[in-house]
Amino acid sequence: MRAVRISKHGGLEVLEIVELADPEPGPGEVLVRMEAVSINHLDLWVRRGVPGHTFPLPIIPTSDGAGTVAALGVGVRGVAVGDEVAVFPGVSCGQCPACWSGDDHLCSDYGILGESCDGLCAELATVPAANVLRRPAGLGAPETAAVLLASLTAWNMLVRRAMLQPGELVLVQVGGSGVSSAAIQIARLLGARVIATASSKEKCVRAVDLGAERCIDLGEDDTVRAVKEWSGGRGVDVVIDHVGRDTFAASMRSLARAGRYVTCGATTGPKVDLMLNHVFFKSLSILGSTMGSKGDLARILKLVEQSRLAPVIGAAFTGLEQVVDAHRVLEAREVFGKVVVRI
Ligand SMILES: [Zn+2]
Repeated sequence: MRAVRISKHGGLEVLEIVELADPEPGPGEVLVRMEAVSINHLDLWVRRGVPGHTFPLPIIPTSDGAGTVAALGVGVRGVAVGDEVAVFPGVSCGQCPACWSGDDHLCSDYGILGESCDGLCAELATVPAANVLRRPAGLGAPETAAVLLASLTAWNMLVRRAMLQPGELVLVQVGGSGVSSAAIQIARLLGARVIATASSKEKCVRAVDLGAERCIDLGEDDTVRAVKEWSGGRGVDVVIDHVGRDTFAASMRSLARAGRYVTCGATTGPKVDLMLNHVFFKSLSILGSTMGSKGDLARILKLVEQSRLAPVIGAAFTGLEQVVDAHRVLEAREVFGKVVVRI
């Protein structure tokens, strides 16, 4: 089979296409013929490397994918050859208290496909049988791949961490990213009102189409002033932010009393200035969030099947050779929504 592989960290040139022996599913595993993957910011970190973190190189990257089951390992039940599946990106031990509680993403032995072990950017991939879910009826592989990690992250931030309530106000920073385009929809689904930010007028139009009442053009408007105006001077109850350093101060200043700031990433850098007096005087919460549970992904796929949540695809490529282009457009923040590659 052919696969994209990273043997050393660096620029786009380290995304090599290699010919490897077809993998065989071990006990409890399934072999999936990959039809589409989506590229997340995590792929960029794995490619570039992260200071102080060791990735298991060489590695086949990519966490999100969909395909068809091609073979079953010994002892696999509940899934059959030919099933069209989504691949759940998180790998957990299945036998610790967190896993037993359905909080598999809090497992101390948690890993992510394409980050802690080989991922899905290949013609074939073996994954634990527990990681495949039947695809929603009528949903294509690229659309399925587009709703996995990003939607799960947004769901965990809003539902599990912020415990968003109907009628609350939410600021979604940089509404054109995969996580944010899902967060706008999920917040609306939960009955909240949304204001978003985006880096251009065109992206603002898309954010409003997805359900934001208003979108702040980061190049022209002041976020805090616009949020205050929109919320009648009160501020928002929840901020969804994965940008980090560049947006942190405005995000915190946009919060109403008892507001919750939720972070799942720091694409512009993790070091921020925090004013503790704002945190205690206004009873603010700062909440971290990584991934989400398998059960929640099943809920998300059900909502997609019911057309209550839509995959947002900003760019689609075809063939492993174009994974380089997929990285390039994601890195340049050129697109609104997810970047997918058909395999
Ligand atoms: Zn566990």
